[in-house]
Amino acid sequence: MSSPFWSPGLEKLEPYVPGEQPRGRKLIKLNTNESPYPPSPRALEILGDAQLADALRRYPDPESCELRAVIAERFDLQPEQVFVGNGSDEVLAHSFYSFFRHNAPLLFPDITYSFYPVYCQLYGIEYRTPPLRDDFSLAVEDYSGPAAGVILPNPNAPSGRYLPLEEIEKLLQLQPERVVVIDEAYIDFGGESAVPLIDRYPNLLVTHTLSKSYALAGLRLGFAMGQQPLIDGLNRTKNSFNSYPIDAIAQRLAAAAIDDSAHLADCCGKVIATRESTVQALRELDFDVVPSKANFVLARPPGPGAEALYLALRERGILVRYFNKPRISEYLRISIGTDEEMDALLRNCEEIIGSQTE
Ligand SMILES: *Cc1c(COP(=O)(O)O)cnc(C)c1O
Repeated sequence: MSSPFWSPGLEKLEPYVPGEQPRGRKLIKLNTNESPYPPSPRALEILGDAQLADALRRYPDPESCELRAVIAERFDLQPEQVFVGNGSDEVLAHSFYSFFRHNAPLLFPDITYSFYPVYCQLYGIEYRTPPLRDDFSLAVEDYSGPAAGVILPNPNAPSGRYLPLEEIEKLLQLQPERVVVIDEAYIDFGGESAVPLIDRYPNLLVTHTLSKSYALAGLRLGFAMGQQPLIDGLNRTKNSFNSYPIDAIAQRLAAAAIDDSAHLADCCGKVIATRESTVQALRELDFDVVPSKANFVLARPPGPGAEALYLALRERGILVRYFNKPRISEYLRISIGTDEEMDALLRNCEEIIGSQTE
């Protein structure tokens, strides 16, 4: 519903619609790519620290210095090459504002994270969406010519497809005058990060999040890495919007989580193993599965269709993601849960598909 109190144009904004977060009912939740495992116990210890009371009394460090130092050390960068935000969505929003308002369209794939067009609309940024190939792979040569910049997730979402670093490098060379943002929300699940390229490419910005691999979606912490001029640009935007986006608890908890690389490796190893067995099992059930290096798979079920299967699974308490969008409306995006959760998913898929085709 709109209102005469609104600024002009507000009623035309089409906000991002996140995956459902059901309240109450106990479901097997495979729809928003959260981790099935708990966050680092070392991070959770912070919550019992008596000094938190004093920290909460004051404003947090507006520059998140300790957290940025931990991130810099982990990725072999300088703290001046790290920017932190309230979830990587906020980091992305500031990146759109800081780098993509040029007199040319921003380029991103036709099938990708659906927040990108929303930021474009919010900031009045024109965009063009070169189509992925039929197998959802990306052709970098489509990203040449006049552009305000390029953004893509690697691995891509919701396809899960991974683009090798050589291809990322070609992309950086195709657009030397513009920022290329590589959104590495899912990089910890088997891909190779573009962070080591930062030294050689002043136009590269890499974003990460603690929401997926670190099992901290509820904390809201994301970060960007790039050469200092890009980070300085992000800080100008951030400090014109909210000086304190990262609260005192999040700063300390995130630093402890990032420092606990053994826990991260352990959880990601388990997710990767479950992904591989799930892909194989889905293929045995005649699903067409897109190769994935993320903590989810995009898969086209056999039989009457994706939406029917999505609804039938939902009836049975299993939530997956269905996108009613061109090119992917015959697919389901299934987050990787525990082995037990995936067994339940597979068992139910088999029963539903069996009964549908009888
Ligand atoms: C989940 C996701 C994000 C957002 O992460 P937050 O840090 O939770 O805001 C960004 N990009 C992609 C591609 C994602 O899938």
